[in-house]
Amino acid sequence: MPRIYLDHASSMPVDSRVFDFAKPYLMKSHGNPSSLHSVGLEARRAIEEARSKIAGLINAENENTIIFTGSATEANNLAVKGTALRNITQGKAVIASAIEHMSVLNPMKELQKNGFSFLTIPVDSTGVVDLKKLDSILTKNTVVTSIMYANNEIGTIEPIQEVSKIVKDKGLYLHVDAVAAAGRIPIDVQKDGIDLLTLSSNDLYGPQGAGALYVKPGVKVQSVLLGGGQERGLRSGTENVFAIAGMGEAARIAQQEMKQESNRLIPIRDTLIKEILKIEKSHLTGHPTQRLPHHASFRFSYIEGESILLNMDMYDIQVSTGSACSSKTLEPSHVLLAIGLKHEEAHGSMVLTLGRSTSMDDVPLVSKASYDTVQRLRNLSPMSKEWRK
Ligand code: PMP
Repeated sequence: MPRIYLDHASSMPVDSRVFDFAKPYLMKSHGNPSSLHSVGLEARRAIEEARSKIAGLINAENENTIIFTGSATEANNLAVKGTALRNITQGKAVIASAIEHMSVLNPMKELQKNGFSFLTIPVDSTGVVDLKKLDSILTKNTVVTSIMYANNEIGTIEPIQEVSKIVKDKGLYLHVDAVAAAGRIPIDVQKDGIDLLTLSSNDLYGPQGAGALYVKPGVKVQSVLLGGGQERGLRSGTENVFAIAGMGEAARIAQQEMKQESNRLIPIRDTLIKEILKIEKSHLTGHPTQRLPHHASFRFSYIEGESILLNMDMYDIQVSTGSACSSKTLEPSHVLLAIGLKHEEAHGSMVLTLGRSTSMDDVPLVSKASYDTVQRLRNLSPMSKEWRK
C-alpha cells in the first residue's frame, strides 16, 4: 500500500518549487543579511522579497508589518509577552480562547507571575468562541486578546470579524494565531481588523525554522529576544535566510493556488467524513460546516488515540491524535476538554489533515484502515465489555 500522509497540521513536506527557490540561500547567497557586502545584500534582498510576499498573502498594509521569527511559537510569544509588557501602563490583563495553542496559553500563564490576570473564553461544543462572554470580560485593562483564526485540532474556523468588532469597539489589541488557517482560507488583516497575526513557514509547505508576526502599523510591541537588533529591533538574531526565502515563496504559491486547492480538497474531506462516520459510535469533532477545507477530525468511543495512531501507521497512514506539540504529556487535549468532552471521550481522537498529495483514491483505503483499526482496538479494549453490550 502506498504511504498516505494525513498529518499536515503537524508538519508538511517542503514544496519542491519552494526548495528550488530557496536553495541558493544555503550555498551561494549565504551572506549574513546584516553584512554590507554583495553576498550579504543578496541575502537581505531575499528577506525583503519574502516580507513582501507574506504581506501579500494576508493583505497587510505594507511589508514592514512583517517580523520574521524562528517559529510560530516564537511569534506567539512575541505577540503575547511583547505586547503585554510594552503596554503594561494601559493595564495588566490578558485573555485567550480556551482552545488556543500552548504557545499562546503558556506565555499568558507566565505573565501571571508579573502580576497580570489571565482569563480564558469558553467555546461551544463545536469549538466556536463564546462572543457574549468575550464581550463581557474585556475591560480597558485587557492589553492582549488572543483568538485563533481556526483551530488545528478540530478544524473549526472562528468568527474573527465578529471577534474583532467586539475587541476593536473597546479600543483593544487583537492577536490572531493563523497558523492553521493561513494558505487554506483567505485572510485579510485589514478587513478582519487584526492587530497582530502569527504565521508559520512549515504550515505553508515552507521549510521549518521560520515564523512571522504581522504587527499592524502603530501597535506597540517590545522585543522578547535581545541582541543585535534585527527585525526592527523586535527579534534579534541572524535571520534564517533559507527558511525565510522559502516561507515567502511558499506564501506566494499558497496565495495563488489556495482557492483551487480548497475546491479540490473539500469533496475529498467530505467523503472521508461521510465514510468514517459509518463506524459505529464515531463522532465528528469541531464544526460540521465552518471548518478548514483540509481538516477531518473524529473521536471513537472506548479506544485510545495513541493506539489509533500506531495502528494506522501499520497501514502506512500517518494521522494525529490531537496536537503533536503536546503529545509528550498523556493528558487529554485541552481543546477536546474545552468543547465539553469527558476525559475518556477526549482520549479516543483521530485527526486527519489533508494536503497537496491527498487524492480521492485515498478515501477507500483510509476509511477501511480506520474501520479495521477501530474494530481491532475495541476488541482489545478493557472497556470492550461495554462496547459489546
Ligand atoms: N499555533 C498553532 C495553531 C499550531 O498548530 C502550531 C503547531 N503547528 C503552533 C502555533 C506552533 O508552531 P511551531 O511548533 O512550529 O512553533
